[in-house]
Amino acid sequence: SIPLSYFGGIGAASRQGILFKGGNYLDAISRINTVVFDKTGTLTRGEFDVQTCVPQPGISGERLIQLAASAEQDSTHPLAAGLIRYAQTHRISLLSISNVEEMAGCGIQATLDNQTVLVGNIHLLERESIAYPSALHEVKGTIVACAVNGQYIGYLTLTDTLKADARQAINELKELNIKKIQILSGDKQSIVTTFAQQLSIEQAYGDLLPEAKVKHIENLKQDNTCRIAFVGDGINDAPALALSHVGIAMGEWGSDAAIETADVVIQTDQPSRIATAIRTGRQTRRIVW
Ligand code: ADP
Ligand code: MG
Repeated sequence: SIPLSYFGGIGAASRQGILFKGGNYLDAISRINTVVFDKTGTLTRGEFDVQTCVPQPGISGERLIQLAASAEQDSTHPLAAGLIRYAQTHRISLLSISNVEEMAGCGIQATLDNQTVLVGNIHLLERESIAYPSALHEVKGTIVACAVNGQYIGYLTLTDTLKADARQAINELKELNIKKIQILSGDKQSIVTTFAQQLSIEQAYGDLLPEAKVKHIENLKQDNTCRIAFVGDGINDAPALALSHVGIAMGEWGSDAAIETADVVIQTDQPSRIATAIRTGRQTRRIVW
C-alpha cells in the first residue's frame, strides 16, 4: 500500500506540471545523486535554425536545401524539423520521396527521382565512404551534409539554443547537492562542450550513438551508490530512460515513446522542474518516515 502522504506529494507536483507515475518514484527521486541529461530538447530548446548553407560548386543553395529537406520530410528528428521549417519559410518545395531509411545517430537516406539522397553528419559520410572536404572538420555548429548517388553536394549548419531556465535548472540541482551532473549527446563534442560550459557542467559527452548512451548509464550503475535520473526527450532515449533509477521525460516536446517509458514527466518547458521534483520527493519522504 502507498502511504497517504505520497498522494499529497503527487498532487503538489502535478500542480507544477510534474507528473509522477507512482508514489514509489517520489521516494526514488528523493534518493537521486546523479542527473544525466540528453542535451537536445531537455536543456536546449530542440529547435534548430539553419545558419549557413554551403553547396559544392555547380549546386545552388536552394537545390541543396530542397534535397536535404525533402529527404527529411517524414523524420521526427529536431534537425529535420529545422530544415523543413527553413524550406517552407523560403518557399522551397519539397519533392516526393520513397524508401526512407533513418539511421539513428547518423542521418537519413531516401530515394528521390531515382537518386539516392543521404543527409546526415560526418560519421554518415565516413560510413558510406563518401569523399568530402576536410574543412568540414573545422566547421562550427551542427553539420547536416548531403550526398546524391554517393557524391557529396554540400552542407548546412544548424544551431539550437539553451532553454530560458536551463542555467537555473543546473544551479538548483547543485544547491540540492546533486553530486554528478552530466550531458550526453549524439551531437558533436565541441557543441556539447560549449553548452556545458555555459551551464557550468563539467562532464559533457558528445558523438554518442544511442547504444553508447545506454552503455554510459550501465557504466554509471556499476557504482551501486550512484542513483541516476536520466532526462530525455527523444524516441531513442527510451532505453536510457528505462535503465536509470528514475527516467524523466521533458514532455512538452517529448515523443510519445519517451513519455510512455518515463517514470516522471515534466509537462512544462522548464528543466528547473527537475529540482522541484527532487525537492517534492525529499519533503514527502520526511513526512512519511
Ligand atoms: P541527440 O538526441 O543526442 O541530439 P541523436 O542520436 O538524435 O542525438 O542524433 C545524433 C546526431 O546524428 C545528430 O546530431 C545528427 O548529426 C545526426 N542525425 C541523426 N538523425 C538525423 C537526421 N534525421 N538528419 C540529420 N542528421 C541526423
Ligand atoms: Mg535525441
